[in-house]
Amino acid sequence: MKIAILALQGAFAEHQQMLQRLGAETFLVRNLQDFSQPKDGLIIPGGESTAMLRIMNDEGLLLPIQTEILHGLPVFGTCAGMILLAKQVEGEQRRRLATMDICVRRNAYGRQLGSFSTEGEFRGIPTPPLLPMTFIRAPYINNVEADVEILSVIDGHIVAARQDKQLVCSFHPELTSDPRIHQYFLNLC
Ligand code: GLN
Repeated sequence: MKIAILALQGAFAEHQQMLQRLGAETFLVRNLQDFSQPKDGLIIPGGESTAMLRIMNDEGLLLPIQTEILHGLPVFGTCAGMILLAKQVEGEQRRRLATMDICVRRNAYGRQLGSFSTEGEFRGIPTPPLLPMTFIRAPYINNVEADVEILSVIDGHIVAARQDKQLVCSFHPELTSDPRIHQYFLNLC
């Protein structure tokens, strides 16, 4: 199993450590040449979605990544990664990957609750123990189309979902020591 990790900006190193812990091979993607290597899945990490998008555009990565996802490449987007995969982002018309039928609200928790940790359920992963969830200026999903499976809801807001082989979450599982959500993604690959 070989997983590509988009490493333009943000929390990519922590994803790499988590996957290595689970025995998966990984490589970092900074340009088109990196991305063209064979892979079984792709991780789009958290960070700043606007900055990531700008670099993706500059590197000519947007269309090739979008094409591979639409052809079935399994992808896991966390936080900013989720924003990039969403077909709709409230109040924004920016071009992005837009492969998943979800509508997302950026920075949805406002300033005061900008960063917080909690624990929750995640459909398909047996609990207890609950999953630790770290939110950092996080988005949440406020609407999903019919074939999107809702995986986790915290305080009435959707924070994780899946559509076929596309997995997204608002929070940062790579910043915890619990590998179960990464294992869930590897199972999709
Ligand atoms: N607030 C960031 C954005 O809008 C996402 C934050 C994160 O990835 N932790 O891109």
